[in-house]
Amino acid sequence: MRVLLFNANFNAETLTYARMSGLPLGVMSIATYLNKNGHEAFFVDRFYDSTPLDELTLRYSPDVVGIALMSDTMLLDTMRLGEYFRDNGVPVVIGGTHASIIPEMLIREEKADYVVIGEGEQTWLELADALRDGADPRKVPGLYYSDGGEPVFSGQREHIDLSALGPTDFTLVPDVSRYFQSVYFYDKMLYLYMSKGCTGTCRFCFNPYFHRCQRRVRPVEHLFGEIEYLIRECGLKTVYFADELWGLTRSERESFYAEKKRRGLDFVWGCQTRIGVLKRDDIKEMHENGCRWIMFGVEAPPGKLEKLVDKRIPYNLIQPTLLDCRAVGMITNISFIINYPFTEEQDLRDTVSFAKTLTPTYISFHYYVPLEKSELYDIIVENGMYKPPETLDEMSRRFLWETVIPEFSDVPEIDFRVVRGSFQLKSLLTRTPRSYSGGKSFIVEAVKSVLLNLGAGTFRTRVTGFFYTAKYFFDTVGSVLLHPRIRKKYGLEIGYILRSA
Ligand code: SF4
Repeated sequence: MRVLLFNANFNAETLTYARMSGLPLGVMSIATYLNKNGHEAFFVDRFYDSTPLDELTLRYSPDVVGIALMSDTMLLDTMRLGEYFRDNGVPVVIGGTHASIIPEMLIREEKADYVVIGEGEQTWLELADALRDGADPRKVPGLYYSDGGEPVFSGQREHIDLSALGPTDFTLVPDVSRYFQSVYFYDKMLYLYMSKGCTGTCRFCFNPYFHRCQRRVRPVEHLFGEIEYLIRECGLKTVYFADELWGLTRSERESFYAEKKRRGLDFVWGCQTRIGVLKRDDIKEMHENGCRWIMFGVEAPPGKLEKLVDKRIPYNLIQPTLLDCRAVGMITNISFIINYPFTEEQDLRDTVSFAKTLTPTYISFHYYVPLEKSELYDIIVENGMYKPPETLDEMSRRFLWETVIPEFSDVPEIDFRVVRGSFQLKSLLTRTPRSYSGGKSFIVEAVKSVLLNLGAGTFRTRVTGFFYTAKYFFDTVGSVLLHPRIRKKYGLEIGYILRSA
């Protein structure tokens, strides 16, 4: 079968940066797997390739089309693609994290013939085989299909053994360097992954649904096969491991270091992991093996919000872990979420007070985003605090990121903005260690990233990206400067904001 796979573009109304999403690793993995197993898969990233669809049809003559839908900000393009190919008699399959949470809507509104749930490689392969062989695709587990307009689920599929996938084929992308980003002054960075899934059960997260609280690790040979290719052929210098939970066990970490050493690869990297996983010696060892930053999700202060989100981290280990990182020169970033449903002013005060006791290099505050299929989402819908969109069109026009949803809390919206802006500004003004970036503050890095982002993608993504960045900057600085009384209410004095972490 000739399979044409798309990474959908962001909606014009709500898009942010072209480079923010990085390489679409999921859809590239599906293309690699199909090619390895007797099909011919082609890949088009709509962020960079705006070739008219009739031209693509002529060029690839697809027997089936696939679309990766990762967020509601990609819905308009997904709908456009789905309609075009279905109208031209080509079956359309939509997959990806966002497709997995709205399969019924996609089928009912006739945007897809099939919707793949969860990881797509094996489902895609069996579906392509069935379409080629004239077998019944509805017998393939892991997908939704239409039965007289009504969505039907063919049944849950077990997660694939990651060793069956092999290294992703990066030659599918015409120019990998277009995806390079810069982070903490390390450039030519790409997101890759060593493991999938997470054992956590946080109530705001949709991972427990998507990965069913299971975590699997890739063979290091596959991962390093990719890294070696990307260094040699594309000039990769930095890797950000986007794993939800990097390096959970000592043996995983040791095999990672051994393979890196065996291949003699020189690159720096960073990761996200969980407080409590790493001890002092582990952090030292990571640094010796090229790790330069670690991001830890804290998300809520101990007490009421801790119980609400059910993150289950050992709070007493947060500050010691940050100090252990600092001792070896490792950058740390901890994240908090604010504007959870049911937040009261005292909760926001508790969040600020707790955050102030910690000394990471960088501190990120995010607004809570209601994610379908998460436990907290069901609670807010049941409580009438959030009305889910009823149509795809409605969903495509909502913009939940960077938004304080007033129904979640009695705390005035401006309080959240001031608190967030204060910590963002503090982080941007933080100076890095002289040893690796000459003591510049992170604002220099932020400006560099913005310029990189603005240089990528289409004209449309650049213009919108520019306005988005300007708005973000003025929101941050404005909220801090214009609201001293609110800052005072939460104990966010200018002295604290200007003090480097
Ligand atoms: S928030 Fe992080 S730790 Fe919690 S379930 Fe999601 S991925 Fe896992």
